[in-house]
Amino acid sequence: NNEEAAAKAAALDADKGAPTIFDKIINKEIPSNIVYEDEKVLAFRDINPQAPVHVLVIPKSRDGLTELGKADPRHEEILGQLLYAAKIVAEKEGILDGFRVVINNGASACQSVYHLHLHVLGGRQMKWPPG
Ligand code: IMP
Repeated sequence: NNEEAAAKAAALDADKGAPTIFDKIINKEIPSNIVYEDEKVLAFRDINPQAPVHVLVIPKSRDGLTELGKADPRHEEILGQLLYAAKIVAEKEGILDGFRVVINNGASACQSVYHLHLHVLGGRQMKWPPG
């Protein structure tokens, strides 16, 4: 019924809002291989790389950005900072000639960590369409 559906939806939302492993990485409670860091943004190597270069770029403050689909106007500045940090990462990694920036949004796109992150991928010939 509707009540059950609403409760389930609320539970799913609550779960997605829970702290993620990225909080521990931001707080340096667990180690990560940091490629770039500034006041607002952290970029570190993906633990399960899908290309020779695979770096995740995340906001240090999640501020409700569990996924891109939750963005609202207050996030415009950090969204720009994340994309610019992706460029800095590509430059540092020497892949400016060809790289890909990916955001998986939601279960249908295989998002697994509910703290917004950009994947920066490169160092090999990328194919299109992606899987
Ligand atoms: P998503 O599937 O788009 O949500 O991407 C999450 C990414 O986080 C995956 O590519 C994982 O390999 C990566 N990941 C999960 N835990 C860690 C970690 O502790 N360190 C680095 N990368 C991680």
